[in-house]
Amino acid sequence: MAGDVCPLASYIVERVVIVGASLAGVRTASALRREGFTGNITLIGDEPHRPYDRPPLSKQVLQGKWGDDKTLLLTVEQTEELNAEWILGDAAQHLDVASRSVHTASGREVKGTSIVIATGTRARRLPFSADNDVFAMRTLDDARRLVAACDALPAHATVAVIGGGFIGAEVATALHARELRPIVIEAQVRPLQGILGDVVATWLEGLPEAAGIELRVQQQVNDVVRHKNGFLITTPHDALEADLVVVGVGAVPNIEWLHDSGLNLQRGLVVDEFLEAAPGVWGAGDVAVFPYHSAGESDFVRIEHWQIANDHASYVARSIVAGSDQPFRTVPYFWSDQYGKKIQMLGHPRPSDEVELVSGSPHEGKWLAHYRRHGAVTGVVALNNARELMLSRPLLESV
Ligand SMILES: Cc1cc2nc3c(=O)[nH]c(=O)nc-3n(C[C@H](O)[C@H](O)[C@H](O)COP(=O)(O)OP(=O)(O)OC[C@H]3O[C@@H](n4cnc5c(N)ncnc54)[C@H](O)[C@@H]3O)c2cc1C
Repeated sequence: MAGDVCPLASYIVERVVIVGASLAGVRTASALRREGFTGNITLIGDEPHRPYDRPPLSKQVLQGKWGDDKTLLLTVEQTEELNAEWILGDAAQHLDVASRSVHTASGREVKGTSIVIATGTRARRLPFSADNDVFAMRTLDDARRLVAACDALPAHATVAVIGGGFIGAEVATALHARELRPIVIEAQVRPLQGILGDVVATWLEGLPEAAGIELRVQQQVNDVVRHKNGFLITTPHDALEADLVVVGVGAVPNIEWLHDSGLNLQRGLVVDEFLEAAPGVWGAGDVAVFPYHSAGESDFVRIEHWQIANDHASYVARSIVAGSDQPFRTVPYFWSDQYGKKIQMLGHPRPSDEVELVSGSPHEGKWLAHYRRHGAVTGVVALNNARELMLSRPLLESV
């Protein structure tokens, strides 16, 4: 009967398929519901665990202050309210962009009206002889393994932490709090100089020593080998024996599964100003390489910050529900708790940008500085000065 015939549109049930069931993926799903999305949501994650938050892993969890249940991103009630289909422990292996179908390792095919790629990054590994026995700090499993290994060590056992960046510094801080003896081994002249630039790195270089943690700089590790009951770490001029080795030398984007998708993959998944990699296919979080404007210049950047994953997620969800006429804009923010101090930054300056100390001093252990390029503020960085940092936010909002 004519009266029973519905328009074709009503037969099409919308389904958003989100690949990567962690921060950016879960926040996209939550934001979709907040925005009133009533269609289906499928989250595909290769990890078997309920989604968890990563920042506490190198802080409270490794220090032994939190059980890992405190890191969960969703409570049981929130998970139910989300009313999503979860495919966990099953990696996406292929994306067919034309049909918006995701194929997984177990042979599933999940077709969506929209696809969100939020596969993040994984810990970079180095080709050490003992690579299988060294620890990383990226996943819940990494944290569990490292906590168990630390529990088995006697007090003051030596742990070599290869890499003095944010993760290495946080891991060393947590190990020290556990009464172990971390030694941070850094390839550069000073930690973080490749990210924060020479000036700010100089202000921060004394933090490990002040916290009672040994830092060895300009030590490019050649190899890590098993030695007696522990490890031998060799550098061109030195060798160090350690009971345990943790490697924190950056992360690589999880994009291999997209290699035959036809999407633009360069240092990550390249998306446009609307965070789209192709019509109906979005990128969000650590995996996304997106246009970023500052000081009148435009760069494609991949920013591995918690806040960016949240901002991408909100924007993508809104775009899926209501379309987008405004490009994605944000003021990046990150924090890091290391050596008993809090470093925070707004913006995304280049390491070569000029730096001006605006308040406090490195000597006081509390300061705030601006980065500038072509006269414009490109970033604000603070040590133990959260209040002034947040008050500086309007300086960056117009970029
Ligand atoms: C130890 C640690 C501490 C941190 N601390 C801070 C901090 O203090 N401040 C800060 O700003 N940021 C911090 N970060 C960074 C922050 O956690 C990340 O920016 C955030 O996790 C990014 O979220 P994401 O969802 O984009 O990626 P991820 O969290 O990496 O999640 C991606 C998910 O996708 C999964 N996946 C990958 N490939 C596939 C596939 N083919 N199929 C299915 N699933 C797949 C991954 O296993 C993972 O579960 C920290 C990160 C770590 C690891």
